[in-house]
Amino acid sequence: MLSAIINSKLIIADTIVENKVVIFDEKIHSIVDKDRLPKNVKVIDVDGAYLGGGFIDIHIHGSGGSDVMDATKESLETISESIVKNGTTSFLATTMTMDLHSIEKALENIQVNASSVNGANILGAHMEGPFINPKKCGAQDKKYIIDPDTSFIDRYKDIIKMITLAPEVEGADAFVKYIKKHYPHIILSVGHSDATYEQTMHALDLGIDHATHLGNAMNVMHHRAPGVIGAVLDSDITCDVIADRIHLHDATLRTFWCIKKERLMLITDSMRAGCMCEGSYDLGGQVVNVEKGKATLQNGQLAGSVLRLNEALRNMREITDISIPQALFCVTEAPARKLGIKKGRIEEGYDADMVVFDENFDILLTIVDGQIKYKKGA
Ligand SMILES: [Zn+2]
Repeated sequence: MLSAIINSKLIIADTIVENKVVIFDEKIHSIVDKDRLPKNVKVIDVDGAYLGGGFIDIHIHGSGGSDVMDATKESLETISESIVKNGTTSFLATTMTMDLHSIEKALENIQVNASSVNGANILGAHMEGPFINPKKCGAQDKKYIIDPDTSFIDRYKDIIKMITLAPEVEGADAFVKYIKKHYPHIILSVGHSDATYEQTMHALDLGIDHATHLGNAMNVMHHRAPGVIGAVLDSDITCDVIADRIHLHDATLRTFWCIKKERLMLITDSMRAGCMCEGSYDLGGQVVNVEKGKATLQNGQLAGSVLRLNEALRNMREITDISIPQALFCVTEAPARKLGIKKGRIEEGYDADMVVFDENFDILLTIVDGQIKYKKGA
């Protein structure tokens, strides 16, 4: 049976349309005028709230007490069900820099169990490391960093969608060339890097076309040595940011938004304490303390976040001039286009992943593949 959402402020591209009805089953079936509502549909009245595509988080390690590195079916299920409440309808399960055996176990788990989760869909895996620069490891454990290695990629080529690496490390050039030749669907992203401007530009020529949590775990932008940040801002590649107002100064975030616009994506980089209480948690074998929305290692190093994606949207609205449709774009169409999937947009034939929210990005309803997975107050 088809369902229909009525009385919404429907966001399509950069416009907000009223008096339209969205009809769907597991896909968006059609968008019609209010007075053309067909009979025999299940009507969902959203009472004037915003309706947009479901959020896509391309960088998330954990939430609800679980982590992708736990490598169990239950951990993926917990993350999936936890983040659907924040409007996230799909995500890349993100691995950490750990020993290769643990990474492979996590990838295998994603391969086997990704399709069985009940909340937000798992689109595949994002490997954050282990091919990064020890100087910019951030909360990734230095001792597990290795030189780029393509030998195991083939076993997981169906699920690896993105790899964050430091392009200046030994063997990175050959790695990037190999991946682009054999697995062109894998997004290669510069991150945890100390590359110079020139090294980064060279890497972009070879096929890296995204930057991971711009500003964090990379060299600073000096006016005579603009480094990774300068190269990313000076090129047309896409990038993502952790907009929790902790990882980046508000002014930095505003600057990045001003320059990158529709090439900017928002991520949570959430660790297992996402959606949980304050306290101590494990992250890739290291202890992380969570206090006042800040996740840090014992030495004070920021260690991922406890950010929710709808909060990132709210923060962007508070500190930049971004409009609601533009903010939504950063977590819907921008990542969906990058991944080459028919999600993140309410248009005929697209997956029926949708979110209903108010002007503060409080989530009222989350729909995944046409099924209601979260309803506020239910
Ligand atoms: Zn991360």
